[in-house]
Amino acid sequence: MAGNHLSFYETVNVYFEKAAALLDYPRGLLEQIKACNAVYAIQFPVRTSRGYEVFEGWRVQHSHHRLPVKGGIRYAPEVNQDEVMALAALMTYKCAIVDVPFGGAKGGVRVDTKQYTEEELQHITRRYTSELVNKNFIGPGIDVPAPDYGTSAREMTWIADTYMALNPGQLDALACVTGKPVTQGGISGRVEATGRGVYYGLREACDQADEMKALGLARGLAGKRVVVQGLGNVGYHSAKFCQEAGCVIVGVAERDGGLHRPQGLDVDAVVRHQKERGTIREFPGARTLTPTGAALELDCDILIPAALENQVTADNAPRIKARIIAEGANGPTTAEAEKILLDRGVLIIPDVYLNAGGVTVSYFEWVKNLSHVRFGRVGKRFEEAASERMLAAIEQATGRPFAEAERRQIVRGPDEIDLVNSGLEETMIGAYQQIREIKQRDARIHDLRTAAFVSAIHKVARSYLELGIFP
Ligand code: GLU
Repeated sequence: MAGNHLSFYETVNVYFEKAAALLDYPRGLLEQIKACNAVYAIQFPVRTSRGYEVFEGWRVQHSHHRLPVKGGIRYAPEVNQDEVMALAALMTYKCAIVDVPFGGAKGGVRVDTKQYTEEELQHITRRYTSELVNKNFIGPGIDVPAPDYGTSAREMTWIADTYMALNPGQLDALACVTGKPVTQGGISGRVEATGRGVYYGLREACDQADEMKALGLARGLAGKRVVVQGLGNVGYHSAKFCQEAGCVIVGVAERDGGLHRPQGLDVDAVVRHQKERGTIREFPGARTLTPTGAALELDCDILIPAALENQVTADNAPRIKARIIAEGANGPTTAEAEKILLDRGVLIIPDVYLNAGGVTVSYFEWVKNLSHVRFGRVGKRFEEAASERMLAAIEQATGRPFAEAERRQIVRGPDEIDLVNSGLEETMIGAYQQIREIKQRDARIHDLRTAAFVSAIHKVARSYLELGIFP
């Protein structure tokens, strides 16, 4: 990194140390929690239309305190080892915070996906996967990748297929990767899970009367002015759920420019415009912003950075007007920026908590794959029959029959998507309350990130102690 700015991995460790300083675990245990347990760096050749090209990739397993380790695979032209290590570490803390029983990991391939055809990306993905198989860096009980920036369900299908081809007959093979299409062993609701989790977390934060009062904001999400950076999977779904909950999306930022419309933007209309024109710029009725970073400084209540790391920096933090920063992305706020914002009383809802919805639903997918049964399949009809009996008893006691529509709504048993969303909602609310309690109990903790890291360190430490590694 240039100058004296911290690298991404160093930034994560600054946050870790800030929390660790408040706890009295032995230094050796803290070092073990903090360390990246295994770093696999590879260079592999793939034949593309340009001839043979050598691609650089990584898989980092940050913490083996729980197995498998878990985390996405990022495809981007700038990926580097420091970044993958940082992202893997964040996965460990994230999983601990939301009680998902995995260690953290992350993968990356340095590739500009826009320069390659689908077929070439498939070759790259399959080759990367077989390198992971060869080194035992993938498997349902070892290391389970998922989508991240630059990858999606499509890549996960290629990974699963490659893994299964190399491990014929392995009963649980489908659980070697999550974020698969629903038709290929995936789970309903995984695509929108991170955005939905961001929404649940924000809703919970905005529901705390005392916190909102301190920020000078009204309680509740309705009417809050929101700016979203990034309209990828996380940003798009976060914006959409917030809009549905009554937020006004006053600004969006994409790579090629931003949009500002104080009366609100319709997220789907913006995305349609972007698909048709190849840019979000010149969206009718909105002001186009150049450079795109200007969108982060718009007048708003909530800023959702949902693109990449290092977006809110010491440089732009003094000009940021949002009272709440909701970290949909991993690592969007630098340590220097965080200090500036906290001094100004801004509420930062940290990545390690707020974007954990993705890995939470990945956990449900993994469980589904291991159990070989769709959520809701076994109990749905039974629950419906029980509700039917209850309604009949009420009808008999009151003499009033239920209307058909009302009856259908009451007796409807849960489908997979209902259970996934309910599990996600419970997870996000429960974790928020845990973090809030940690913050309230300790007068030395003034921010949610430190509280979240304290929660993570306690949980990871406990499992190391249970393993008997640190007596
Ligand atoms: N890549 C996502 C994240 O950063 C999801 C990881 C997963 O589902 O394993 O949390």
